[in-house]
Amino acid sequence: MADGGGQHPICAVTGKRIYKRHQAAAKAVGKMQKTARGAAASPNSIYQCDHCGRWHLTSYSPQLTRAIQHDRRERKKTSRKRRRQST
Ligand SMILES: [Zn+2]
Repeated sequence: MADGGGQHPICAVTGKRIYKRHQAAAKAVGKMQKTARGAAASPNSIYQCDHCGRWHLTSYSPQLTRAIQHDRRERKKTSRKRRRQST
């Protein structure tokens, strides 16, 4: 089976494609933006994964990605706390 491609391993934690070099990820982003023509879902930024230490592509900015993850965690916390409103 010569399938071509499949050169990039997948991060077990994020399920995203792993790029060993920032440069390779940047290249991939450029390629995708060319083909996708600014589609909303096309990844446009690169971030370094906390889990595998390699580079992943994301359609959010790194700051936003982090903010979303943080927000999700916070929401879990607060939904539990809400009930306690004495006085
Ligand atoms: Zn990763």
